[in-house]
Amino acid sequence: MPNLYTDLEIPQLEISLKQPLGLFINNEFCPSSDGKTIETVNPATGEPITSFQAANEEDVDKAVKAARAAFDNVWSKTSSEQRGIYLSNLLKLIEEEEDTLAALETLDSGKPFHSNAKQDLAQIMELTRYYAGAVDKFNMGETIPLSFDKFAYTLKVPFGVVAQIVPWNYPLAMACRKLQGALAAGNTVIIKPAENTSLSLLYFATLIKKAGFPPGVVNVVPGYGSVVGKALGTHMDIDKISFTGSTKVGGSVLEASGQSNLKDITLECGGKSPALVFEDADLDKAIKWVANGIFFNSGQICTANSRVYVQSSIYDKFVEKFKETSKKEWDFGGKFDPFDKDCVVGPVISSTQYDRIKGFIELGKKEEKLSMFQTSEFPVDGAKGYFIPPTIFTDVPETSKLLRDEIFGPVVVVSKFENYNDALKLANDTYYGLASAVFTRDIKKAHMFARDIKAGTVWINQTNQEEAKVPFGGFKMSGIGRESGDTGVDNYLQIKSVHVDLSLDK
Ligand code: NAD
Repeated sequence: MPNLYTDLEIPQLEISLKQPLGLFINNEFCPSSDGKTIETVNPATGEPITSFQAANEEDVDKAVKAARAAFDNVWSKTSSEQRGIYLSNLLKLIEEEEDTLAALETLDSGKPFHSNAKQDLAQIMELTRYYAGAVDKFNMGETIPLSFDKFAYTLKVPFGVVAQIVPWNYPLAMACRKLQGALAAGNTVIIKPAENTSLSLLYFATLIKKAGFPPGVVNVVPGYGSVVGKALGTHMDIDKISFTGSTKVGGSVLEASGQSNLKDITLECGGKSPALVFEDADLDKAIKWVANGIFFNSGQICTANSRVYVQSSIYDKFVEKFKETSKKEWDFGGKFDPFDKDCVVGPVISSTQYDRIKGFIELGKKEEKLSMFQTSEFPVDGAKGYFIPPTIFTDVPETSKLLRDEIFGPVVVVSKFENYNDALKLANDTYYGLASAVFTRDIKKAHMFARDIKAGTVWINQTNQEEAKVPFGGFKMSGIGRESGDTGVDNYLQIKSVHVDLSLDK
């Protein structure tokens, strides 16, 4: 029997924990059917942390059977009030284990503990609180009078068995955004974490059990995307799939649905979000937000403002101050331990991502011969892990690959515009449509931009502020459907129409 738990120590925080390593099916940790495992690495050091069980098609099928039985026999008959009680229990457990969960995120994904991982936990608690309180208020149907003798009504019913696939940049926060929404709506779930950040969700599974959720309601199947993700996408007994990750893989999940049972689908995919800074903006404030919007989480944010357009009259001043602020607030400062309280920029997730981002930086520097600023020398001196300094390219033409492709790292391109129409055209010139930001003191211009931009989210004089109550999702190739808020729960419900004929009684 393989090891299904290991002891982990996080000496910087004096935390020790019992880390589960198995698949979580029917409220039990179990080995994968072929005994395969995946090694997970600490991106801050490049050293292995541990290995966990990797599921395969057979294990996915077992998890689907567990979720189906739980839905049919228990969960579909559980009142929404009771579901709210389970979610409230879960919230209490998350509050108790906040530091442990945040520490696991830091260890496995490299997020700075104090300035970043703890924020993820705050967001997770906020959304769990929101769904726990709202669970019995989402599912109201309507009554539709038709004639003297006839009327119809609608029921909002859960899909049944829902599969969820999440990426590595917000391992637990992204999982919880999906999980709590689907559970609040009354579905059972099979969830797959990313292969390089599975530890926090496996630990979280222990809280699911403690909170009292019946066996089979939540199942966690860690493993490779090409195996587990594909098996979930093509499974004939999954009613809905919700995916967050790259646009390319999102497309293959959509295809898998089409080739199997037309399961309903939500896709949260990539982005190349613009931030516009007008000459009448509060410049210092705009710079702080823009720097935060691209360098927080080492730029590994789907909504990162990776394209910045600045009005030509303030362009030079903006660039100078942006570099100054980035150096002052987003430098490593010699801190390469994400548990250090002064560490604000962590490593990127893996050697693969490191090489990919480095490739973009070299392309910009050497082939495209762009003007570049970095907050410190690169490659970084004194760091063992995958550290890349915040990098700013200026005067970047629209044709640049750096301006068109999602880099998903701490790399930003800055360009200028002349007027509103010019700015809008540049901002909309992308296949993506996830998010956008505008900085101006002119309320009319701000709301014109909100009207005209083709993106699912618009931030006015701020960036990257996500709220549990507010729907989130993308236009164009950034996705299909919405998560969070009432709309997010609606995404996990389907409508049944019931026609009533009273004339039969006459
Ligand atoms: P990815 O698409 O490579 O992987 C995402 C998940 O899909 C992982 O769990 C992976 O194992 C799985 N997967 C891989 N191949 C699969 C397949 N064939 N079938 C089903 N699942 C498969 O993305 P990533 O590199 O983990 O994350 C970065 C990407 O995610 C970026 O493009 C980013 O913009 C996007 N993202 C989007 C949002 C959003 O809400 N819109 C949020 C975070 C990240």
